[in-house]
Amino acid sequence: MAQIFKSPAAYVQGRDVAEEIGSHAEELGEEAVLIADEIVLDILEDRVLTSLEDAGLGTMSVEFNGEASETEIDRITSLAEEQGIDLVIGAGGGKALDTAKAVRTNIDESMVSMPTVASTDAPTSALSVIYSEHGEFQEYRFYEDHPDLVLVDTAIIADAPTRFFRSGIADGLATWFEADAANQSDGDNVVGGKPTRAGHHLARLCYDTLCDHGLAAVDAVERGAVTESVEAVTEANTLLSGLGFESGGLAAAHSIHNGLTQLEATHDATHGEKVNIGTISQLALEGRDDAFIEEYVEFSLDLGLPVTLSDIGLDDPSHNDLTVVAEAACDEEETIHNQPFAVSSSMVRDALLTADELSRRVRENR
Ligand SMILES: [Zn+2]
Repeated sequence: MAQIFKSPAAYVQGRDVAEEIGSHAEELGEEAVLIADEIVLDILEDRVLTSLEDAGLGTMSVEFNGEASETEIDRITSLAEEQGIDLVIGAGGGKALDTAKAVRTNIDESMVSMPTVASTDAPTSALSVIYSEHGEFQEYRFYEDHPDLVLVDTAIIADAPTRFFRSGIADGLATWFEADAANQSDGDNVVGGKPTRAGHHLARLCYDTLCDHGLAAVDAVERGAVTESVEAVTEANTLLSGLGFESGGLAAAHSIHNGLTQLEATHDATHGEKVNIGTISQLALEGRDDAFIEEYVEFSLDLGLPVTLSDIGLDDPSHNDLTVVAEAACDEEETIHNQPFAVSSSMVRDALLTADELSRRVRENR
């Protein structure tokens, strides 16, 4: 199988770039729809629509209801078709962007992805995660096309709750461990090929950037400040993590995340928070040295990320609960099979338990 690397055509990041969207998007279409939830519309609707109109585009906006579900995608697709939309602009977190990507694919037109939080690596990718209306993971949907433009306003990112920023760091840290596992196993990446050197190394650059700048960036965002560290971590969380996971490949951490979404109690934890439990469990599953896992847990705690099952809502999970998680994580479609060894659901359940106990010990000894 061939090595494949894919990416969006353009990436623009900086303070106040939302006000320049018209100049970056004017070639992409004539009738634009902005898809965002109520809070995000409040933050940027005026600025974005004005900039687009100044560039000669027709505009409308649609309020997103909060879940990237089939029903919501169909509803917005019909509205876009009725209005002759040829440019879909998704703004917000992962679910708004994933919905916009699905709508864009249904109408087969251009797309701008505008994350307002640096919480996941969804903005740059050509896939959506589809959930049920009740928030359970249902499927990955893969598309031919990437967003034409990813536009990230770091002033908006730094203004968002720090929890989202921390979550994006967790998602970005996982990218390296997963891409490296996929590389070792000669597994498939997410764009239908084998990883390129570029995909693998971008994942490593993501990890190094987060280790170098993560803590200072969290401190800055805590105060709503945009610093070079915030720029570095925003790029890592968004661009490097996005390209790294898609072209580098996923492995156990995201499969364990998907398994965790099966339990209602985890639904208040963000994507990145659940991914962090997946990462620590992946490290345990791989049999990494105690010192290495402990260091990762320490760094997570410094960043304010969850490290134990109870941190993500699972106080005293039953044997059966963990079996449900582990079996879902080992579904034959799951990326956990990109680990460079055969993985069974009992191994995953035991890794979850071990990672939980080790993390608890690290926290107690601080
Ligand atoms: Zn992720």
